[in-house]
Parts: sequence; structure tokens; C-alpha cells
Amino acid sequence: MAPHAHAGSPSIEGWQTTLRTHGYRLTPQRELVLRAVDRLGHATPDEVLTAVRQESQAVNVSTVYRTLELLEELGLVRHTHITDRAPTYHSAAAPEHVHLVCRECHDVSEADPELIASFTGALLDRYGFTTDVGHLTIFGACRRCDGQ
Ligand SMILES: [Zn+2]
Ligand SMILES: [Zn+2]
Repeated sequence: MAPHAHAGSPSIEGWQTTLRTHGYRLTPQRELVLRAVDRLGHATPDEVLTAVRQESQAVNVSTVYRTLELLEELGLVRHTHITDRAPTYHSAAAPEHVHLVCRECHDVSEADPELIASFTGALLDRYGFTTDVGHLTIFGACRRCDGQ
């Protein structure tokens, strides 16, 4: 999966504050996982594990899964579904975005939610349905793969 690093990375102090507010500490493992998600842009637990393993062999896949679930509960990361296997995580510090996923090259890009504002507005008006925009992923073909 192509990396798309987000601008405006959160500070370590910000992570510490959020964790401490909920009675948790920023352990080295949690910090490694947060830094990996931030660096990778969009990453599955396996991809996070691979990145974390470059810095620490002490982390295993179940630790990564548990850590990502905790960090999502605390609002530090969010997930969407890009592969049919594990969820894909991104930093909650990233600006709200819709995911565009190319089925050919598996590139993940980010679209401005403003582009679907009339759609999500209509869902709210007509069905009383509130869209979780950050969870939204649209599949298709990117400009490069569309040929021609
Ligand atoms: Zn994302
Ligand atoms: Zn493509």
C-alpha cells in the first residue's frame, strides 16, 4: 500500500495527554504504534507490525491489534476497510477525508469530504442518517491505472 503521510502530525505530548486523561501511559510500544500509523498514513495491523519491528523485536501482532483497538477507543486513530482482511488505520489527527482506493495498484488517496457534502446532506435529510465520513472508502481505478 502506498504511504500517504499526513501533514500536521500530533505531538508526543498530545498523545501523552490523551492517554493520561483516560488513565493510560504512553508506553514505548504505544508510541511505536502511533508513530508507525502516523508515518505510514494508512496501514493494516500487519503493516504497522512490520514498521514497528524495525525498531523493536519485542512487539508481536496481538500487541499491535490490542494497541490499535485501545488507541481507536481513545480517538487517536481511526479505521476504514480497504482490504477484505484487517481494518486499515490512520491517524485521527489527519484532516477528515474520504478514501479513494485503486483496485489495480492499491493506491490510497484522500478526497475532501466537501465533495460528498450534498450526498451526506441528502442522507441526513431524507433518512435521518449521519455519515461517518472518515470510515468511507470508494473503490475504483486511479488516473494512472485507468489506461489511455
Ligand atoms: Zn484515512
Ligand atoms: Zn492505480
